[in-house]
Amino acid sequence: GKNKSVESKICILGAPGVGKSALVVRFLTRRFIWEYDPTLECTYKHNTTIDEEPVVMEILDTAGQEWSIHREGHVRWADGFVLVYAINDRHSFEEVSSIKQCLDEVKKTNVQCVLVGNKIDLLHEVHVPTSEGERLASDWASAFFETSASDGGEDIPELFHELHREIRRRKMIE
Ligand code: GDP
Ligand code: MG
Repeated sequence: GKNKSVESKICILGAPGVGKSALVVRFLTRRFIWEYDPTLECTYKHNTTIDEEPVVMEILDTAGQEWSIHREGHVRWADGFVLVYAINDRHSFEEVSSIKQCLDEVKKTNVQCVLVGNKIDLLHEVHVPTSEGERLASDWASAFFETSASDGGEDIPELFHELHREIRRRKMIE
């Protein structure tokens, strides 16, 4: 029918502790949960409306110590990725670069993603300046967001919506 919903499968990746689960839970419940089982890998199904169109968003919140090629199943499954680092953790910023490289190799294309610098509430601990995040995202031709899952997070829905729009655009072309 003409109200058929559009699907997008979104996978969240990033170093342990950057706030992946907190971001997903904030997006889905508008609440912040301080402690979240760091080993729990979980898929959520979220029905919503984006640009007046019904959408079924499947979100895979990954968990685990290291990015590895064992994740290949996740990579193949997903239409797009939210790559998260924490602005107070330089290592996590380096990690998103290597994750992106792996994704592109597995998918054999420039995969669709949004880059997210989380924990912007910890401004006094900045180790990754905004300009560096912006530069990396622009190298990827991706959208960039700085946000905080714990503090407001008003722009969190927008980052998921933006990724959905990109996924949808590419599906229209293919
Ligand atoms: P994950 O391993 O990437 O899923 O990270 P979690 O969502 O489990 O969060 C790891 C830790 O960072 C937890 O103690 C959270 O309370 C904390 N955290 C998550 N997001 C934020 C944030 O935006 N600001 C601050 N200050 N802490 C956060
Ligand atoms: Mg988690």
